[in-house]
Amino acid sequence: MKNEIRVRFAPSPTGALHIGGVRTALYNYLFAKKNKGKFILRIEDTDQSRFVSGAEEYIHETFKWLGIVPDEGIEFGGEAGPYRQSERKALYHGYARQLIEEGKAYYAFDTPEELDAMRQRLKEAKADHQVYDSLTRETMRNSLTLSKEETGELIKTGAPYVIRLKVERDQKVRLYDMVREEIKVNSNYIDDKILMKSDGMPTYHLANVVDDHLMNISHVIRGEEWLPSAPLHVLLYQYLGWSDSMPQFAHLPLLLKPDGNGKLSKRDADKHGYPVFPMDWIDPKTSETSIGFREQGYLPEAIVNFLAMLGWNPGTEQELFTLDQLVEAFSMERINKSGSKFDVEKANWFNQQYLKNISNEKLAVGFLKLLEEENMDCPREKAEAICGLLKERITFPGEFWTKGQYFFYPPTEYDQRVIRKKWNDEAKSILADYKNALGVADTITPELSLNILNEVLEKHGAGPGSVMQALRVAVTGMAGGPDLMGIIAVLGPDEVSERIENALSNIG
Ligand code: GLU
Repeated sequence: MKNEIRVRFAPSPTGALHIGGVRTALYNYLFAKKNKGKFILRIEDTDQSRFVSGAEEYIHETFKWLGIVPDEGIEFGGEAGPYRQSERKALYHGYARQLIEEGKAYYAFDTPEELDAMRQRLKEAKADHQVYDSLTRETMRNSLTLSKEETGELIKTGAPYVIRLKVERDQKVRLYDMVREEIKVNSNYIDDKILMKSDGMPTYHLANVVDDHLMNISHVIRGEEWLPSAPLHVLLYQYLGWSDSMPQFAHLPLLLKPDGNGKLSKRDADKHGYPVFPMDWIDPKTSETSIGFREQGYLPEAIVNFLAMLGWNPGTEQELFTLDQLVEAFSMERINKSGSKFDVEKANWFNQQYLKNISNEKLAVGFLKLLEEENMDCPREKAEAICGLLKERITFPGEFWTKGQYFFYPPTEYDQRVIRKKWNDEAKSILADYKNALGVADTITPELSLNILNEVLEKHGAGPGSVMQALRVAVTGMAGGPDLMGIIAVLGPDEVSERIENALSNIG
C-alpha cells in the first residue's frame, strides 16, 4: 500500500469524452479528495491513428464546466510530468529494452500476412484462441526463433518489428479488485501482447503501466471495459519488478441503456434524443454533431450529482449532494457491482432540483441573455419575476422562454376544455367587472390583484371557483401555470385589462 493516495484519469483523445468517462473521472476525483490525495489527469495519446484534434481541449473544458479540477496535469503542473504520453516516448523505450534484455520480451518481425496465415491455421485446427502466445510464438518470426545474428541483421536493415511480452505458461495471475474482489486467471489465457508498435510508439498496456508506476499511482479506478486487461497489467508489473508497489485496482460497473438492455450507446441515445456527452461536439473528421448535456440546459451541479449516483450510493435516502458533500460521503465500498441504468429522467429530476434553488436574480441573468437573442426587450425586474414564477415548473432554463411566452405575447388561442366547462355568463360578467376594477390601478402586486378580484366576487355573490380558470385562460390562453395573481402582477393592470377584453370579444 502506498502512503499517499494518487489516482489518475487517463483518457485517450480519440473523440468527445463520453459521459461514462466523466463518471470515471468524477469517482477518481471524489476518492482522491476524500482521502486528501491527488487527482492526476494524464492524456494517453500513443495511438496516433486514432488521434482527434480538439479532443484534449474538450476534456479540459468539461472538467472546467463541472468543477472537477485536477491537481496535476498538462494545464495544472506537477512533479510527475510530462502528462501527455506522446512526450514520454523515451521512457517506454527504456523499459521495453530492459524487458528484452531480461528475456521477458522479444522482437517480432511477422508481417500482417504472416499473422493472418497463423490465425487461419489455428482456426482450421479448431484451436480455442487464434492468438500469438507461448505456443504459437514458436512457429513465428521473432527473436526467440531466429538466431541472434538474423535478429540483429533485421533490426539493422530497418525491418519493421514490434516488441511483444513473453508471457510464461501456466502462471497463476491473481489480483484483488476493490469492486470485483478476487480475480484469478491462468497465464495461458493471456497472449503475448505487443508492447511497442512498429511506429516506435508504445501500446496502451506498456505506457499505462509504466506511467502508473512512475507517477506513483496508488489506485487505478477505471471502467469495467479494462478489466480483461488487468491480469496482463499485473504480469507487466511483475516482469518489470514493480509488484510490491503495484496500484490497487477498481473497475467501475458499466453504464447501461435506460431500459437496462445492453451498454449505453451513442446510437441509442441519438435515437431517443438524449445526450451521452457532457458538451456539444462536432467531429472534425466526419462533421457529425453530438449533443451535449451543457447545451441542452443541464446544470453542472445536477450532472455531477446524477453521475455520482450512477454506480454509487450513499447508503442513506439522501439524493441531493453538492460536490463537497459527495467528497465527504464517497466511499469505494458503496460502488455497485452491477451495471447502472442511464436514466435520463433522473438527470432531469436533478436538474429541476438545482434549478429551483437558484435565486431569481441569478436565473434572470441567463434569461435576459436568451431574451436578447430573441430580440425581446424586458426589464430586469420582470425577468426576475418570471424566473420566480416558473422555476418550480420547468426543467431547463430555456423553458423560461418557451413556456413563458404568455408573459410577452397575448394569447392567440384559448384552451378549449376550459372554455367548454368554465366560460359561462356568470364568469364573463365577473371578468368584465374585474377588468374595469383593474383599470383604475397603475401598478399592482399579487395581493392587490387578489383583493380586487375578491371584491368583485363578493359583489356577484360568487366564489373563486366560478372564475379562476376562465380568468387564467383569458390572460394566458392556457389551463394551467404558476400563480395567476403573480402572472397578473408581472403583466400589469393595463395589459391584463386588454387581454380580458380581447378574450371577451374573441371567445364571445
Ligand atoms: N486510455 C485509456 C482510456 O482511454 C485508459 C484506461 C485506464 O484508465 O487504464 O480509457
